[in-house]
Amino acid sequence: MTSFDPIASQTVRTAETREPGFVHAAQRAAAAQRLAKRKRPPNILVFLMDDVGWGDFGCYGGGVAVGAPTPHFDRLAAGGLRLTSCYSEPSCSPSRATLMTGRVPNRHGLHRPPMYGEPGGLQGEVTLPQLLGEAGYTTQAVGKWHIGENEASQPQHVGFDDFYGFLSVSDMYSEWRDPQFFPEIVYSAARTEWIKNMPFNRCFVHAKKGGAASNVEEVTIPVLSQLDEKWCRYSEDFIQRQAGTGKPWLLYHCTRGAHFDNYPAEKYLGKSPAKHPYKDTLLELDEIMGRLVASLAKSGQLEDTLIFVSSDNGPHMETWPDSAFTPFRCAKGSTWEGGVRVPGLMSWPGTIEAGQSSDGLFDFNDLLPTALALAGASEKLPQDRYIDGIDQSDFLVAPGGLSNRKYHYYWLGTTFSGLRCGEYKMLISAASDAPTDAAGPGGFTGVLERFAYPRLYNLYLDPKEQHNYLTRKLAYVEAFQLGMRTHLGTFRKFPPKRVMGLKVKDERAG
Ligand code: CA
Repeated sequence: MTSFDPIASQTVRTAETREPGFVHAAQRAAAAQRLAKRKRPPNILVFLMDDVGWGDFGCYGGGVAVGAPTPHFDRLAAGGLRLTSCYSEPSCSPSRATLMTGRVPNRHGLHRPPMYGEPGGLQGEVTLPQLLGEAGYTTQAVGKWHIGENEASQPQHVGFDDFYGFLSVSDMYSEWRDPQFFPEIVYSAARTEWIKNMPFNRCFVHAKKGGAASNVEEVTIPVLSQLDEKWCRYSEDFIQRQAGTGKPWLLYHCTRGAHFDNYPAEKYLGKSPAKHPYKDTLLELDEIMGRLVASLAKSGQLEDTLIFVSSDNGPHMETWPDSAFTPFRCAKGSTWEGGVRVPGLMSWPGTIEAGQSSDGLFDFNDLLPTALALAGASEKLPQDRYIDGIDQSDFLVAPGGLSNRKYHYYWLGTTFSGLRCGEYKMLISAASDAPTDAAGPGGFTGVLERFAYPRLYNLYLDPKEQHNYLTRKLAYVEAFQLGMRTHLGTFRKFPPKRVMGLKVKDERAG
């Protein structure tokens, strides 16, 4: 038997609706042995931040070095598994819908974020909370949603028992209230009125499963600066309430921070060494992470809880300096590594070994099949649609585990951009970030370029993707193109879905 190698080794496809994966038999056995010691399925805490960068945390090379120490995230990393190749999608809603469905955006249809009450969202998809709910979990969503504001796409209608948060994204509540960004609205009664009549809810809301959302409070700028504190308290209460119920739970805690524009709470204003709003906000997020972990420990649930910490995309460089830190090329909105390589911490004391790091591929779409496997409910994965996610439970749980994923696929909206396998990444198209095409290095500013020939980057030697290595590495061409053909071939049987940007019937006068 030859040793394992992500490029040279073969995957196994178990069904036509499933992404092929590696089978590491000894690793599976080691993980099963560890999991057998657990008396019950784990609680799952997803702590998802907004636009926070791969490099922002001390455990990823940032922290003190970039003016915002992150002791709580660093401690969590030291006590568990630090993933260095965790992949989101290029922007908020595509990433969040992928996390909820185990599917790439070209299947769930949220190719870009819905804004200002645009119709379309998660409606019609089979979701993580829905399936965990069927497996006996209590399911709670707190904080940012942004996977559809229309009623059928709201969290309490797609599987969550309870939701406390806002339905869209931070800047939509604040930008038109701030004279620095929108003087022409703030100083115009007509335009202020016009904004207020747009079909989006300006309040954050509370909702219970199957019911209507009720407004909690209008998100003015002073309220916005308090949201992460309010949401943290709600999650702390939830954690305390669950202790002793005997039921496992899913807590999907999505922070407001550190999406632009950041208005830190008074307690944190100027408190980071950088004394900058973005960095002050990171200090608050770090403390909130620490409080949720403390809450789990205090209620005796820490060893029964898998914690996944991440960010929904890379830094938004069009809003620099109110933006994150990445050592990679380009930013949010692109399929360069800076857009989609995000922090990924996995903690489960006593089950996931402390002090581990892995560069194995982990996709946001892997969370759903992984969580279902840990819940002992893999049979609940839908058979009527393609699931891109792979069960990575043995990768996480077996000490020194290897990823079961061979390829990460990069999608830029409806355009297939490329794929990664091992340390190599092949791109056939991308958003240009050249200074001749874009005013800044931001991923949303670029021009969509289809390259004349594929480009190949070695992400170990060239993490900034500056040196096309293809001509010296032609032996890889056919293997990567086979990966592309196989992935794109799945859309023949399972056609793509498009939710955003459709010409919807709209009777309102413009
Ligand atoms: Ca985001």
